[in-house]
Amino acid sequence: MAIKIKSLVAREILDSRGDPTVETRVILDNGLSAKASVPSGASTGEHEAKELRDNDPKRYGGKGVLGAVSNVNQKIARSLIGANIAGLKDIDQKMIELDGTADKSRLGANAILSVSLVCARAAALAEERELYEFLAGYYEFPQPKKMPCPSFNIFNGGKHADTNLDFQEFMIMPVVLGKKKRPARLFAEQVRAGAEIFHELGRVLKEADFDTDVGNEGGYAPDIVSSIQAIELILAAIIRAGYKPGAEIGLGIDVGSAHLYDPSEKKYVFKLDHAHFTASALEDLYNDWLRRFPIISIEDGLGEDDWSGWQSLTKRLRDEILLIGDDLFVTNEQRLRRGIKEKAANAILIKPNQVGTVSETMACVKLAQKHRYKIMVSHRSGETVDDFIADLAVAIGAEYIKSGSLSRGERLAKYNRLMEIEDNLSGRNL
Ligand code: PGA
Ligand code: ZN
Repeated sequence: MAIKIKSLVAREILDSRGDPTVETRVILDNGLSAKASVPSGASTGEHEAKELRDNDPKRYGGKGVLGAVSNVNQKIARSLIGANIAGLKDIDQKMIELDGTADKSRLGANAILSVSLVCARAAALAEERELYEFLAGYYEFPQPKKMPCPSFNIFNGGKHADTNLDFQEFMIMPVVLGKKKRPARLFAEQVRAGAEIFHELGRVLKEADFDTDVGNEGGYAPDIVSSIQAIELILAAIIRAGYKPGAEIGLGIDVGSAHLYDPSEKKYVFKLDHAHFTASALEDLYNDWLRRFPIISIEDGLGEDDWSGWQSLTKRLRDEILLIGDDLFVTNEQRLRRGIKEKAANAILIKPNQVGTVSETMACVKLAQKHRYKIMVSHRSGETVDDFIADLAVAIGAEYIKSGSLSRGERLAKYNRLMEIEDNLSGRNL
């Protein structure tokens, strides 16, 4: 007997920046119920699906989402009440058709995603399965076995912090940790390494008289003198915390370069370093950096429409490091297809709210995996405590996940859930 959707109720809640976002509850006709909420980016890509905001300057500075909430409560609810909860692809497809736009701007990607997430969660509940297990089964991924490697953003800049640093994120990636002797709870050990280094970085900064307040994603965000200084401070913290840079902990950078591109000059402008780079000069800079520092990943190193720049960067560095397309691909199958054709990037960031439904996210992941792009599942800079992406990362067998730093509850919610999943997978919870 099919279990059906009895009601869908959305409300306006606040995200980690104190801005409105959408939370939706579904109730099934067997009495089960689930809740999900959606995140929101600050350095949003030009080609992302559009979140619907009220633009009423009298409420939340125009950022209210009452329109999106009412779209769930009325139009979407009318079309989905009575639908079989086990038919997630049909549910997503119905919403895509109901919206009818290419960028989900009519109903709002925030409205649509909240329903897509909550239905996936409820479907897992209805089958009495863990969400990661259910997602893997329903979307036909191999049975989940491995954990993603976390990428912790411990130094925030760009659009995520009130600092002079142009680069958006400096991450530590304990990828190599445990390669020689794998600890029983590797993910939990990676979290521990991240937290120890994060706290040590706090002490390093304090001793050097830097500010230790944190930015949007929980990383430190002091004003510094050059981008390289951020790397040097992080390396000092890694060593002082008792880890080996390179041999145990790699570095990842999200340049967030789309927002540094000046189209009139056709150059990337780094204010802190007083530097204006063409795409090829920037490529030289990255090449130089990765020989000097243990950098293993560069995300959005070039702009979202700089396909030829990406092509050249990829040709040069694809065998050495991860070149991750975030704003470049926006979790969109079509854009990824172009990337595959043009040999742009060798990895993709996966953010469900860039495309708006779980089913489209999964289709994009499948395409990426087919063409051997590495996958990093990602949070947004504006988050809620919803930990869906933790299960998503395990379900699809993602190689990496980034959910910010080792502070702020909305960031830790995902890492904490992943530690629980790690124990589940190894049978320790049973
Ligand atoms: P955003 O940042 O959520 O502000 O877009 C995250 C990222 O760029 O990876
Ligand atoms: Zn990014």
